Amino acid sequence: MKNQKVKYIFVSGGVCSSLGKGISTASLGLLLEGHGYKISIIKMDPYINIDPGTMSPFQHGEVYVTEDGAETDLDLGYYERFTEANLSRKNSVSTGQIYNTVIQRERRGDYLGRTVQVIPHITNEIKKRIFDVATDDMLDFVLVEIGGTVGDIESVPFLESIRQIRQELGHSRVMNIHLTLIPTISVAGEQKTKPTQHSVKELMELGIYPDMLLCRTATNLSDEMKSKIALFCNVTEQNVISALDINGSIYEIPYMLHLNRFDEIVLKHFGLEITPLKLPRWDKFIKAIRNPRKKVTIGVVGKYTTLQDAYRSLYEALVHGAAANEAEIEIVRIESDKILSGKNINVRSVLKDVDGILVPGGFGDRGIDGKIEAIRYARKEKIPFFGICLGLHCAVIEFGRNVCGLEDANSTEFNPTAGHPVISLLEEQEIIFDKGGTMRLGAFRCDFNEGSYIRKIYNSAFAMERHRHRFEFTMKYRDTYLNNGMVFGGIHAETELVETIELHDHPWFIATQFHPEFKSRPTAPHPLFRDFIKASIEYGSKKR
Ligand code: GLN
Repeated sequence: MKNQKVKYIFVSGGVCSSLGKGISTASLGLLLEGHGYKISIIKMDPYINIDPGTMSPFQHGEVYVTEDGAETDLDLGYYERFTEANLSRKNSVSTGQIYNTVIQRERRGDYLGRTVQVIPHITNEIKKRIFDVATDDMLDFVLVEIGGTVGDIESVPFLESIRQIRQELGHSRVMNIHLTLIPTISVAGEQKTKPTQHSVKELMELGIYPDMLLCRTATNLSDEMKSKIALFCNVTEQNVISALDINGSIYEIPYMLHLNRFDEIVLKHFGLEITPLKLPRWDKFIKAIRNPRKKVTIGVVGKYTTLQDAYRSLYEALVHGAAANEAEIEIVRIESDKILSGKNINVRSVLKDVDGILVPGGFGDRGIDGKIEAIRYARKEKIPFFGICLGLHCAVIEFGRNVCGLEDANSTEFNPTAGHPVISLLEEQEIIFDKGGTMRLGAFRCDFNEGSYIRKIYNSAFAMERHRHRFEFTMKYRDTYLNNGMVFGGIHAETELVETIELHDHPWFIATQFHPEFKSRPTAPHPLFRDFIKASIEYGSKKR
C-alpha cells in the first residue's frame, strides 16, 4: 500500500561529482526533522555492482553497513549520522540490484512472453523501490538522492523514473532539487553560471524541471547572479540558493543551508507552515565543537589513510567522541606500511606525538606488520589502544607472538598455513567461494562479561553492534590467551564467538570484532569512542 500523504524530494547533481550531494541531502533530512517531520532517505547508485561490498576502498571509499547487514554507499552513513532515520537495505538501491531483480523475474517467466525493456520494466522496478520505503505510514517525507552527475549515461533510468513520479503525483507531492556548481575563474575573479545552465538544460531534456537550485560556490551568490541563473534555468529567483564551501566542520553545513532558507523553500513548495527550527541535541553538539577546551591527537594506523573517505565513519566517530569530551581532535593518519616490523626506533618516531592509537578494519595482508608493530608499541608503552575488526585480529596476533610465545601466530587471511592460526574462518565458511555478500554482516548481539571494562563503558550488559568480516578468533586458543592475561570482555552468546578483547594491566587496551563507528552519531556519541578519547586525553596530559 502506498502511503497517500508522503512527499518526495529528489536530489540530483550537476556539473561534476563531489559537490556534497550526500551531505546536502542529509542536512535537509535533519532540517525537516527540526520542523517536526519524520523522514527517510534513499540513495540510488547508478553502478552495476549489486552493492559496494566487493569494491576496493580506492574506488569507492568506505562501505557503510546498516543494522540489517546491507553493504551500502557511505552516504547512508551521513544520513544516519545527521538524522534520526533508521535505514536498512531498502534505502540503498543500485542499477545492479534493479537489473538483477528484473532479470530473475524474466527467467521465471513472469513477463509472459513480452519484451523486457528499460521503460517500463526497469523504471517500474526503480519506482517500486522508492514506493516501498514510503509504505511506512509514519513518514512525511522520502528524500531520494540520485547518485552520479546529470548527463551520465548510467543515471538516465533513475531520472526517467523520478520524472514519471512527478507526473503521477504532481507538484504538491514531489519536489526536484538540483545541486550544481558555480565555479569562480580565479584570474578574472568571476563566478560563472554556464556549467549550471548546461546541466539544467540536460535535466530539462529528460523532462525534469528543478524547483530549486542549490549552487555550490566559494562565496555567496549576489542577487544579480541569482536572477541571471533563475532566468536561464527557469527557476524562481528565490529558489536559487548558495551552498557555500565550508572551512570548518561538515556539521556546520545544515545551519549554513538553513540561513540560506533551504528548509523554508522546501516547506513553502509543499504549502506547509514555516515553523521555527528546533534541534536542541544538534545545537548542543555544535556548541561543543565550536568551543573545545582541550586537545587530543589520535593516530590512525591503517592502509587507506591517504584516501579521504575509506575510514569516513571512523573519523566521524572520533570527532563525536572528542566533542563529548569537550576536546578538539587532530587525527594523524599513518600508513602502516611506513612502520617496519621490529624496528622499535621507527615506530616510536612515527607515533611519538599521539595520545592514542587506533587500528581500524581492513582486508588483505598489505601493511599488517606495521599495524602489529604499532599495537606492540601501544601495549608496551601503555598508550591507549583501540582496535576495530582487523585491528582486533592484529592485536590477537601480536599478543600471541609476543606474550603467549606462539611465534608464528597469524591469521589464515594472511598466511593460510600458519603454525598457530589464532584468527581463522569459521568452519562452515571454509567452503564459501563467492566473495559477494558472504560475510558476517550487520547487527549481532554482544553480551558483556561481569568485571569487564567494556561493560562499564557501555553501562550495559549487552549491545547490538554491526559486523563486516569473515575471520574470527580461533576458539582452541582461548585458554592460552586467558592464562596469559587477555580478557574476553564481550561474547556472542549463541556461538560463543569472541566479540571484544581487553587487557587489564593497561590503562585502555580494547579491540572489537564489530564496527562501533557505524552507530556513532553527533547527538549520541558512541560510548567506546567517548571513553577512548577520554583515556587518550588523560594519557596526553600526563605525557606533557
Ligand atoms: N579482513 C578481516 C575479515 O574479513 C577483517 C575485516 C574488517 O576489518 N572489516 O575478517
